[in-house]
Amino acid sequence: MTKSLLQQRALGALAGVAIGDAMGMPTQTLSREEIARLYGLVEGFRDAVPQQPVSGGLPAGTITDDTEQSILVAHHLIARNGVMDQGVWAQELLAWERDTHARGVNDLLGPSTKRAIEALQRGVPASEAGRLGTTNGAAMRIVPVAIATPAYPLEDLVDAVEASCRLTHYTSEAIGAASAVAAAVSAGIEGARLDRVLEVAQNAAVLGERRGEPAKSGSISARIAEALALAAGRSGPAAAFDIADRIGTSVSALQSIPMAFALLRLTGADPWTCALLSASVGDDTDTIGAIACGMAGACKGIDAIPADAWTFVQSVNGLELGAIVDGLLRIRTKRQVRAS
Ligand SMILES: [Mg+2]
Repeated sequence: MTKSLLQQRALGALAGVAIGDAMGMPTQTLSREEIARLYGLVEGFRDAVPQQPVSGGLPAGTITDDTEQSILVAHHLIARNGVMDQGVWAQELLAWERDTHARGVNDLLGPSTKRAIEALQRGVPASEAGRLGTTNGAAMRIVPVAIATPAYPLEDLVDAVEASCRLTHYTSEAIGAASAVAAAVSAGIEGARLDRVLEVAQNAAVLGERRGEPAKSGSISARIAEALALAAGRSGPAAAFDIADRIGTSVSALQSIPMAFALLRLTGADPWTCALLSASVGDDTDTIGAIACGMAGACKGIDAIPADAWTFVQSVNGLELGAIVDGLLRIRTKRQVRAS
């Protein structure tokens, strides 16, 4: 069966997450200088060096929590017609962490997700648990929400994003960041041009940052706008590194998501270049890569991703995403009919 354009771009988004994640796996948490010393120029998938603190020894092409939790969200949505069940979601995150632990992988729940789940276990209500979550975990696993939800009405998309952030990342910064990424992916899947994708993403950041706990550390929409302005008319590693120095590349939603948007613009939404630059900028490289490359894959579709690279990542991780894409697009179609 030939794939529709919608299927090609939705698969491009999820494949982009996996490729950006896997490319950044060996370099995550390292400084740019350490990356250069240990790996030289990142030109493709690499084995993690043994001394890598999070992924030491993992083979080239291995995905991490970013892709695994995106797939977790996808299955959750498909089983519930697109609706998040906060109690079940908490149990699924815990089960994922137990499974990860059993596999001997160090890459456990991120700081905000961990804190929220622990609060929940102490008896804090689900509505309160995510009030401190300002890191990038909600944005790193938002692509399935974006595939399952049309970009318009934008308020409805932000509602769906907010539901997926509620348990672990219920803050202005995190919801605004995840809304921007979701809007970029959803508009990209619909075939919007890059300029339009960036505009919709910024509008969504403004809507999203009004939700959740008020921002304590800065406005996500302002940071994304700043990062995009820095990237305008530029390209290549030197520009990426300059922007990284100004914007930051940490797990904070206020750094990593604007950085991902800068890379999206710098590369003209080219998934492969996004993945290579993300892996080189330092610190939270795998998540920046998952987000940037996911957005680029949504804009350009699976055919823009080098076929050998995608075959390699699928085989290393045993990924099978066709049914997931179709399940998420079925939800999207139902929502589209309801909204029109
Ligand atoms: Mg990761």
